[in-house]
Amino acid sequence: MAYLAAPAATLEVINKYGFHFQKKYGQNFLIDGNILEKIIDAAEITEEDGVIEIGPGIGTMTQYLAEHAKWVAAVEIDKNLIPILNETLSEYKNVTVVNEDILKLDIGRLVQEKNNGQPVKIVANLPYYITTPIIMGLFENQVPLSSITIMVQKEVADRMQVGPGTKDYGALSLAVQYYAKPEIMLKVAPACFIPKPNVGSAVIRLTKFEEPPIQVKSEKKLFSVIRAAFNQRRKTLANALANSSALVDEKGNEFCVTREYVCGLLDQMELSQTIRGEALTLEEFARLSDLL
Ligand code: SAM
Repeated sequence: MAYLAAPAATLEVINKYGFHFQKKYGQNFLIDGNILEKIIDAAEITEEDGVIEIGPGIGTMTQYLAEHAKWVAAVEIDKNLIPILNETLSEYKNVTVVNEDILKLDIGRLVQEKNNGQPVKIVANLPYYITTPIIMGLFENQVPLSSITIMVQKEVADRMQVGPGTKDYGALSLAVQYYAKPEIMLKVAPACFIPKPNVGSAVIRLTKFEEPPIQVKSEKKLFSVIRAAFNQRRKTLANALANSSALVDEKGNEFCVTREYVCGLLDQMELSQTIRGEALTLEEFARLSDLL
């Protein structure tokens, strides 16, 4: 089977199978071989690597992954794509196609079965409608992985990479930066896909830390503080946390704080009582969470 990464090859497969793109699954297929080469380089795939691909579509990127990696497990939700994948990937003996919803699949178990629980690399041109739950699911469920290299909406890539004091900084930036080092590797124009998405795209690599960059007594509490701070991002931090129903302790039990109490802690941390969440670093959120 020839490479699919060209408009004519992709259209041929789609027409042959009478495939209809499903918007609800975020289906925008890559048709640019140069971009695919760059994604493989960005992910630093070697023949030692086990790779999980999320959403292979008709198998365009899977072909490139299969040629560079030891094995690839390609997880695709759309059952209409499975017969297509069985044909387009038939020559690659190191590929397994899994017809599942990535948000429901026990990925830890897949890694255990395929790689003895050793870290894998995740590579994907993600369905944009579920970018955040996919990334957070991979990190929070402690899936053994060394890196995640993904195509996402450009603005979402920016949000993952920025630091405090910028408009894009928020809960996603802090969560990603707690687990991994984010690096935007390349920008990708809508013309590189069929059909063209309405937004610009970027490939970002998240290299997982072996240890989190900061110490905190309870991750659960830390992430609840971050969520509460950004649920009402226009409010001061003290007002956003006061009487918020988002706060939970290390056991997951809700707790409440008053504005005065938070102001006291901000004094202790030598931060202004009128500071907003968007001005705090990850370290400062961790310190505040430990004090609460
Ligand atoms: N990798 C292909 C490419 O680059 O041409 C397709 C990428 S397309 C942006 C996203 C793919 O993810 C589609 O094939 C879609 O059907 C699949 N998908 C959407 N939601 C999914 C889910 N919850 N679990 C697994 N795959 C999903």
